[in-house]
Amino acid sequence: MSILSSKLEFLKGIGPAKADLLKKELDIHSVEDLLNHFPFRYVDKTKIQKIAELTGDEDYVQLKGYITHFQLLGSGRGKRLVGQFTDQTGIIELVWFQGIKWIAETINKNTEYILFGRLTEFNRKYNIAHPELELTQSNNTKSTFLAPVYSSTEKLNSRGLDAKAQRRIIKQLLEKISPADLPEVLPQYIVEKLKLISRFHSFQYIHFPPESAYLQAAQNRLKFEELLCMQLKILQFKNRKQAITKGYVFEKVGETFNEFYAKHLPFELTNAQKKVIKEIRKDIGSGKQMNRLLQGDVGSGKTIVALLSMLIALGNGYQACLMAPTEILAQQHFQSIEELVKPLNISVGYLSGSVKGKTRNQVLAALKAGHLKILIGTHALLEDWVEFEKIGLAIIDEQHRFGVKQRAALWSKSAIPPHILVMTATPIPRTLAMTLYGDLDVSVIDELPPGRKDIKTMHFNESKRLRLIGFMREEIAKGRQIYVVYPLIEESEKLDLLDLQNGYEALLREFPMPDFQISVVHGKMKPEDKEYEMARFVNKQTQIMVATTVIEVGVNVPNASVMIIEHAERFGLSQLHQLRGRVGRGADQSFCILMTSYKLSSDGKERIKIMCETNNGFIISEADLRLRGPGDIEGTRQSGLFGLNIADLAKDGAILTTAREIALRILDQDPELKDPRHLVTKRFLDKRFKELQDWSSIS
Ligand code: ADP
Ligand code: MG
Repeated sequence: MSILSSKLEFLKGIGPAKADLLKKELDIHSVEDLLNHFPFRYVDKTKIQKIAELTGDEDYVQLKGYITHFQLLGSGRGKRLVGQFTDQTGIIELVWFQGIKWIAETINKNTEYILFGRLTEFNRKYNIAHPELELTQSNNTKSTFLAPVYSSTEKLNSRGLDAKAQRRIIKQLLEKISPADLPEVLPQYIVEKLKLISRFHSFQYIHFPPESAYLQAAQNRLKFEELLCMQLKILQFKNRKQAITKGYVFEKVGETFNEFYAKHLPFELTNAQKKVIKEIRKDIGSGKQMNRLLQGDVGSGKTIVALLSMLIALGNGYQACLMAPTEILAQQHFQSIEELVKPLNISVGYLSGSVKGKTRNQVLAALKAGHLKILIGTHALLEDWVEFEKIGLAIIDEQHRFGVKQRAALWSKSAIPPHILVMTATPIPRTLAMTLYGDLDVSVIDELPPGRKDIKTMHFNESKRLRLIGFMREEIAKGRQIYVVYPLIEESEKLDLLDLQNGYEALLREFPMPDFQISVVHGKMKPEDKEYEMARFVNKQTQIMVATTVIEVGVNVPNASVMIIEHAERFGLSQLHQLRGRVGRGADQSFCILMTSYKLSSDGKERIKIMCETNNGFIISEADLRLRGPGDIEGTRQSGLFGLNIADLAKDGAILTTAREIALRILDQDPELKDPRHLVTKRFLDKRFKELQDWSSIS
């Protein structure tokens, strides 16, 4: 039996109590888990900062010095231990809120430590809460500059399993392991081609790198292994899904499309739009069922792509539908599409929860009889009683408002599932698209129609409020409309609403009736009231719209040219970008003004800076991923399913791209991994993704 499947107690220094603790605190159940408990960083003893040289912009710092004295402050829940740490160039405060007794007993004064921690500034003084401290002398492995640091918890620390103890135990474990315990799991020819180091060596070096080149080689190999396995699994899933679901074949482009394209297209398509239509055409003509994600920044012209795709369906004798997340958006699509196809004499219908009685019955009957060719609406389209004669293509706009369930509901509308095109204006970083939508094909419109003026983005704080009001007056005098957006989050809902209310009242004083009209829309209003207020703005009855982020998705008011975002520092990057996309839709110069408080966190500063620098949604989404990490981005918790232990979707895009290419090539030749060269990998995949049998639930 391999040592890897042994119980933890097998190791010296781990008794039943400690084994139990490791299970509870770190989810480590076996020797193999322990081996996969990688250091989260390495202490590089050569890189020590000086207190006097800190600027306050550092997030984490590593210092060398000693604690001159401790002090116990506060009582009850406010009780804390404060230590003064100095490196001769300056003094910094250390604070502990938990484990106080243990710290006071184990940390010595006037003894040299290497300190690592997150720097914060408070009352113009630096401090570090719960720093990691390590004796300078304790590093007995003299040859190494990179000592591993393992994540730990207060409990583990106080019960003899701190980072140092973990280091000792893992070192002991590695000495017992031989290459036979960690055989290769990647095809040998790939290991050779990519010059990867062996699996055995990568485990040795990831824990105890003799120097940084070894560490890099180990990380590179282990990340590649993880990402390749993930891609193989995703692509196999995609292939299997496609093998079992046949799609309609739209053999020709058809008369409908051709006539529209030749005579009624209102503008020349951009190259990006042309490219995407070709990709779609190829899919729907191929006999497989299309499942395509269309990404394109706000204003990039997805609607016309949707319409042209629907016309192909019509030309092949099928019906098509387009679904939007809100009534206003659906209405806007309906109006613009009906207008566009008027000369073709195509019947277009509209359906939503508010279409009732006779009108509704007429729509439903015409749909079932096949007279109605295009149906546009809200999620009401998904209801059971909506029956098509022959639905060939379903398009979903703004996909992040629709769940997976709704996508599945579309499938059941017909014996053979219709082709599905999902359109989203929230650019998804490439790496995430390959992961979360790895089973969808992705098309990108990466070019805006010509002649768009870039939106000018500016950062203001309270001292410029008067100037802002003056600017708003000028724009309104030119006949433009203005959005003023406030954040609203559940945790501080009451305060946020109050804030919006105050802002609204202040604006009423500056822009009094009857010369000015202001709309207000927020999430706490009844849907009817919301729609009413939105409609007033859309119809130009009001000049200013004060709102929470409910306007984030969708409304198209080309006459609105100013977007003011209050407390902009509280919004995430992609949200800011979505909001900004509400303006810049007409011929006029548009503006986005980010109002913030004076003091911003370093992340907040960075976000505002990026917004002022670029209008490119893809650059912004990459920056968002970098700043927040993948865990926080909508929908990415799914990536946890792949059990990524070392690869980081925010940083390892290049490795992921290679992994995907290689996975594609492997499966192209050997879809079921039956080739003897791939057998080790197949076995490893089966074991690694044992729990992932039912994949349909995550796409
Ligand atoms: P989105 O991708 O945000 O849905 P739309 O489809 O609403 O964008 O298009 C935004 C605006 O750009 C619309 O007014 C549309 O008519 C116009 N538009 C789209 N494509 C082109 C093009 N190739 N040339 C000029 N204008 C275009
Ligand atoms: Mg749109």
